[in-house]
Amino acid sequence: MKRKHKIMLARIIASAAATLVLNLIPLEGIPRLALFSAVYLAIGYDILFDALRGILNRRFLDENFLMAVATVGAFSLAIYSKSGDYNEAIAVMLFYQTGELFQSIAVGKSRRSIAALMDIRPDYANIEDAGELIKVDPSEVAIGTPITVRPGEKIPLDGIVISGNSSLDTSALTGESLPRSIGIGEEAISGCVNLSGVLRIRTTKEFGESTVSKILELVENASSRKSRSEKFISKFARVYTPAVCASALALAVIPPLIFGEWLLWLYRALTFLVISCPCALVISIPLSFFAGIGGASREGILIKGSNYLETLASVDCVALDKTGTLTRGVFEVTDVIENRIDREKLIEIAAHAECASSHPIAKSLISAYGRDIDRSRVKDIEELGGMGIVCEVDGVRVSVGNRKLIKDAPEYVGTRTAVYTSIDGEFAGIILISDIIKDNSRDAIASLKRIGVKRCIMLTGDSDAIAREVCRELGLDEYRASLLPADKISEVEALLSDKGKIAFVGDGINDAPVLARADIGIAMGAMGSDAAIEAADVVLMNDDPSGIAKAIGISRKCIRIVKQNIVFSLAVKFGCLALVAFGFANMWLGIFADVGVMVLAVLNAIRALKTD
Ligand code: ADP
Ligand code: MG
Repeated sequence: MKRKHKIMLARIIASAAATLVLNLIPLEGIPRLALFSAVYLAIGYDILFDALRGILNRRFLDENFLMAVATVGAFSLAIYSKSGDYNEAIAVMLFYQTGELFQSIAVGKSRRSIAALMDIRPDYANIEDAGELIKVDPSEVAIGTPITVRPGEKIPLDGIVISGNSSLDTSALTGESLPRSIGIGEEAISGCVNLSGVLRIRTTKEFGESTVSKILELVENASSRKSRSEKFISKFARVYTPAVCASALALAVIPPLIFGEWLLWLYRALTFLVISCPCALVISIPLSFFAGIGGASREGILIKGSNYLETLASVDCVALDKTGTLTRGVFEVTDVIENRIDREKLIEIAAHAECASSHPIAKSLISAYGRDIDRSRVKDIEELGGMGIVCEVDGVRVSVGNRKLIKDAPEYVGTRTAVYTSIDGEFAGIILISDIIKDNSRDAIASLKRIGVKRCIMLTGDSDAIAREVCRELGLDEYRASLLPADKISEVEALLSDKGKIAFVGDGINDAPVLARADIGIAMGAMGSDAAIEAADVVLMNDDPSGIAKAIGISRKCIRIVKQNIVFSLAVKFGCLALVAFGFANMWLGIFADVGVMVLAVLNAIRALKTD
């Protein structure tokens, strides 16, 4: 427990004990009043102070105000009626403070699970200076600087390994507990922890652009995007509190005008105020969303705001991209059908043409070539999304892509991806590459069906034959093939409807606009593509498509909890208010109901952290 919480707990216990003792010793008149007032102030001074500050800032009618008016009122009533019963005012403060303490601990708990993610923030980078390693602020390291990461240290910036072998703990980013091995030439992602060997890394991004910064930014902003329920609550409170105060006033004035008994009705009005405090709602709803986002982040699912949780919960149609989303996007060159030039030359030219592309096909052609790319041989590169590359290699026009780009090529029909090339305007050959379906894709689709998603549809730029094969293998409902990035947008637009929401899942290559257009965009591959992190509403850090169903499940649970809390606390609240108005309840019951409801609502909200 934090120090702040311990002090509060001590204050509560001491005040409760003091009240008990004061009740045991026979005291009368002024000494009694003085001692009870002292205890009352000891437990409630901060509430009174906040209430006063609220009034000075013209912020009337918040919960501090309600508590202050009710307890000061109860105290005055006891003095005026000479009953000497000051217990009520003190008890209200005691319960209220207990509730506040409890809530503060609960909020701290769900914040901590997000703070665990915050733990990925690197404190320093080791750079070499005159043969020695010195620690510098990661934000001062320029692109291309070699940095050293020793075992146990966090990788501070994104980069490429230039020497060393090691394994990385990626769990803070991906929720994946198995370490990942890494060696020379591979990408090192900031925020991972280096486990075994010393790595030297040449940075490829500045700190502000590195994965770790992007993620921290995203998490920090997540709680500020308000959902509809949260907006509803703040609007509700704006109407509710004045309404309650007006009713209390009416209760204090109107019935006694008819029946007399001013004190009795004043007491009921004060009780009415105590009960009316909407703290259970005001606290538990943002807390539920916070817990939901926190719980999801532990599974490697980053949800950018509580508004997206709400949309996710009503998703009933999921459209998925193929390459990089359902398949690994790690192609291997399996065959070459050459036409005018030999195999080696064809791959060399294609690899050069692809030198600036981040498409998975580009990466595989470059790695199939295997030697260093001489970028000075390539000019005028133009990448046509969903089609391929047009450029000049060694001064000759080259096109590399699908048949939309090279129309006069003979058509390859089969279940591998064909990369057509033309050189100097003439068809030159086909490189056949094959992709592998991700291990979890089948299960991912099956779990979407299980949780009641009505349509799972694949949108791909690849050929019909491949799409049909993948669709059959994964148990998808439908597919659309040979789509250009713009076609994907119109397909998604056609699927948009008033009732259910549509989620689009992509890897961020060629489909960032679609991610933005769908009701909810889910991106794979935070471990690489920046466009994805930016355009998407939800990011699956471990590239695992089973995260889709998990994210929907988490959000549904979270929304369910929010609804339960709204209904439950309003029902109890209105029930108690009615009891008070008709004189069936006293302030004791009121405060008990209020704090009780809040504790239950907060406990319920915390359930959103658990994601099973
Ligand atoms: P998907 O929808 O399967 O993720 P994309 O929209 O990224 O596919 O690409 C669709 C098709 O466009 C690919 O199958 C490929 O034929 C072609 N293509 C796109 N970019 C490239 C590239 N850089 N090099 C070669 N072909 C490409
Ligand atoms: Mg893709």
